[in-house]
Amino acid sequence: MSRPAVVIGNWKMNMKIKETVDFIVKLPSMLSQSQGRVCLSVPSTLLKVASDASRGTEIEIGSQNVSQFESGAYTGEVSTTMIQDSGGQFTLIGHSERRMFYHEDDEMIKEKVYRAILGGLAPVLCVGETQEQKESGQTEKVLLNQLEKAMGSLNENEASAVIVAYEPVWAIGTGHAATPEIAQEVHSVIRGFIREKWGEKNAFRTPILYGGSVNPDTIKELIKMPDIDGALVGGASLNVESFAKIVNISRETKS
Ligand code: PEP
Repeated sequence: MSRPAVVIGNWKMNMKIKETVDFIVKLPSMLSQSQGRVCLSVPSTLLKVASDASRGTEIEIGSQNVSQFESGAYTGEVSTTMIQDSGGQFTLIGHSERRMFYHEDDEMIKEKVYRAILGGLAPVLCVGETQEQKESGQTEKVLLNQLEKAMGSLNENEASAVIVAYEPVWAIGTGHAATPEIAQEVHSVIRGFIREKWGEKNAFRTPILYGGSVNPDTIKELIKMPDIDGALVGGASLNVESFAKIVNISRETKS
């Protein structure tokens, strides 16, 4: 038995209403029939239009961030309830751009993961080391620390809601994806962490996605690795043809 491929497009701060509808209208007929999940992580302004446009299709819509608070005086923030009210089913949490540019620390990321689970959104927890950390041989230590802080205190049931995305910071938007061997090694460390904390069932079921310069070429070998269950795709998810190719290659390889 294998895990179905999960591919999530991260549109970041791109796309407008018409482009969103055009993309979502085109995508379903381009997808292969093999099993797998296809998700789009869209800007908050597009949640409603994207979820309306994808109604009746297999496309799942989610956000790129969520507040750690339930509601109230937090200007500029978006809550789990608001995301769900607009049709969102999941949220990215702890993307390296949020850690870097908006100073999200491990404590805040932990609170967001917990808030998402409480609010019924699947958290897509992003972890990854910087170039400097990689060069000084700290990859495993950094990742285990990020995982322990963000999700270590969840119980087995809560932890089973989490999707993990391994996104080496040095590979994001650089055109240099991790080699399949390096990514596999890290994914197996992540799965080992889940196994040790919550047992084999959670370890087997948790989707662990690779992110960082995934495109229709780089996905081919990455997705053959046993612990790589799919991809979080930035730049290449803005074009419906390249995104559909990534989804199809992932599905066909895993099924
Ligand atoms: C990302 O930012 O989540 C990402 C993976 O970006 P890219 O695919 O453009 O490297």
